[in-house]
Amino acid sequence: MVVWNPWHGCHKISPGCANCYVYRRDESIGIDASVVRKTESYDNPLKKNRKKEYFITPETGIVYTCMTSDFFLSDADKWRQGCWDIIRERKDLKFHIITKRIDRFEQCIPDDWGSGWENVTICSTCENQEMTDYRLPILIKLPIKHREVISEPILGEINMEKYLATGLIEHVTCGGESGDNARPCDFRWIQEIRRECIRNSIPFTFKQTGSVFIKDGKTYHIDRKDQMMQAKKSRHNYYPGMGNAYSIRYTLPDRMDLFERLQRSGFRSKFHLDNKDKEYIKEKGMKTIMEHARDFVTNRLSAENPENDGKQTPMKGHPVFIAQHATACCCRSCIEKWHHIPTGKKLSASEQSYIVDVIMDWINKEIR
Ligand code: SF4
Ligand SMILES: [Zn+2]
Repeated sequence: MVVWNPWHGCHKISPGCANCYVYRRDESIGIDASVVRKTESYDNPLKKNRKKEYFITPETGIVYTCMTSDFFLSDADKWRQGCWDIIRERKDLKFHIITKRIDRFEQCIPDDWGSGWENVTICSTCENQEMTDYRLPILIKLPIKHREVISEPILGEINMEKYLATGLIEHVTCGGESGDNARPCDFRWIQEIRRECIRNSIPFTFKQTGSVFIKDGKTYHIDRKDQMMQAKKSRHNYYPGMGNAYSIRYTLPDRMDLFERLQRSGFRSKFHLDNKDKEYIKEKGMKTIMEHARDFVTNRLSAENPENDGKQTPMKGHPVFIAQHATACCCRSCIEKWHHIPTGKKLSASEQSYIVDVIMDWINKEIR
């Protein structure tokens, strides 16, 4: 990984900026981060060694551009054209530009930008729902070849599925905030975005927990040096087809506790078998109903990323469908939330049996 900072310094513009690491670091060495200045690294990608070879080569990896400022900052309007010239010249390198100012993009691109440059990835950050709904529609409409989203520091629950569903976003990264005044990061927010990514087959990275991490309602204070490692240990990164979710450790819920919780849920507890369903069960016999349940679980739920996840179980038409909604065995998201079986992996034979068992348990209770 290479960092190229053609200018340094920035202005805070959104909630995610509150504890900006550029400000924190500059303050600690007595520098005013709000003064924006061109740096000596300005033409780094063009610098060569004595053998007339570039210092930065494609083998050195992605060039993270403008990491101590914002590439689309208005203070830098006078310097940006020169950067585009460099990026145009170094077509062999991949430039990643992370910005909170995607709304300035159109007025900042060079004349020959066309439908975007292959070697430029634009990453828009969105730290909360408001910024997501402001920035992502812009990101999607712009002529860009490679788009990514970064929710770091994530500051609340975010739903970005409608933007992911466009198929135009290539990667999503999430993470908590670090530093002394860090705001908390709830693991549920991370898991929700991850599920949205899985449903849309988009790679997802959980980069770091941040300093204040909430998991299962408990708050943990995590040392800076452990934040990335802890995120990695949770094994929540997702790459379609790579099967990284197989190593997520989880425990199935206690059955009695599960049924009590389902009872308390207004949505789950409203599902019941009607007389027609009960007649059907009587006519077919329990063994056949169980075969149907097995069939639905295998064919509609078991794939790493089931087709139409969230919509694959009708609300009526078969007693097993009703039982699936009543027991939160209707889709992989519900199965993860209620039964802890991670999304993003194929269901094992024993996981499938467990789900069938829960469904049949509920049906038996209803009939009694
Ligand atoms: S846009 Fe980025 S660099 Fe600029 S103040 Fe906000 S967090 Fe810091
Ligand atoms: Zn569901």
